[in-house]
Amino acid sequence: MIIGGIMSDVLKMCVICGKKIKPQKTDNGETYWDDGHNALPVKEGRCCDKCNQEKVIPARLDILFCDTCD
Ligand SMILES: [Zn+2]
Repeated sequence: MIIGGIMSDVLKMCVICGKKIKPQKTDNGETYWDDGHNALPVKEGRCCDKCNQEKVIPARLDILFCDTCD
């Protein structure tokens, strides 16, 4: 069974910074997740770990606490 067609040369790109999304691997080197994170509400698509932590999570918190509401 092929799961998601994981191939090293078709790594997904982060929609925020444009870099490749690093696959998450187990301790014995097996890729178990290569789909990054949901980039909403910053952008539609998938994003890397770094952008998720630095941009997407803060953007979600902003919405949650409505810091930017008038
Ligand atoms: Zn990124």
